[in-house]
Amino acid sequence: MVAIKLLEQNESEIKLMLDKTTPEFANEIRRAAMFEVPVLAIDDVYFTKNSSAIYDEILAHRLGLVVLKTPKGYNLTSECTCNGKLCAKCSVKIVLKAKGPVTVYAKDMKIKDPDVKAVHPETVIVKLLENQEIELEAVAILGRGAEHAKWNAGHAYYLGTPEIEATKNADAKAVLERVPIVEKSSKGFEIKDVTQWTEAYGEICQKNGFVVKNSDSQFMFTLESWGSKSPQEIMSEAVEVIEQKAKNAKL
Ligand SMILES: [Zn+2]
Repeated sequence: MVAIKLLEQNESEIKLMLDKTTPEFANEIRRAAMFEVPVLAIDDVYFTKNSSAIYDEILAHRLGLVVLKTPKGYNLTSECTCNGKLCAKCSVKIVLKAKGPVTVYAKDMKIKDPDVKAVHPETVIVKLLENQEIELEAVAILGRGAEHAKWNAGHAYYLGTPEIEATKNADAKAVLERVPIVEKSSKGFEIKDVTQWTEAYGEICQKNGFVVKNSDSQFMFTLESWGSKSPQEIMSEAVEVIEQKAKNAKL
């Protein structure tokens, strides 16, 4: 049974220690968090005016990448009772109108649902010069990162807990000086706080005659949310996805 310990959390990131598990399980959580948890993103854009220097396609692509706060309660279009007709339960209408000279930001979008907001309001969409104009209507829907990167909920990664061992030619003094989290104990050399471990520390150890091994049963797991959902929401939805998959599996 996997043991999970919360190491750190804030509004954009969560760090966990997964113990007594396998690389496959850690990877399954990573994949579910990044590719299976649905978030809102703009999917269709209808232009009525665009005399900017940017083509419709590029502008639509930029709009698709605007990170949108995703409130609870939206349905995936494929699972909505409206049968793909894009009702208010599975889609959000957005209007954007601007006339140059002006810089158009994500915060200038008029979003029908007040709970859906641009996470980074200062994201620049386009710069309009004198006499340039845009007028468009967009539709945001829920989607999964597996289909398109614009629907990625965040970035998840993990590292097997490191352990170090000194070889015969090790320069222990150099390592103790330059890697503050390594200390000498009666058992040899130990990493005091593995959560502070970085690849740079690993390199210093290796260059000075230490062997660095990463555990294949204990992992430091990090999830950074892009802001559509909280990292806690993403983690619990990822676990639900895995549970659902396990239930549906025909053994
Ligand atoms: Zn619907």
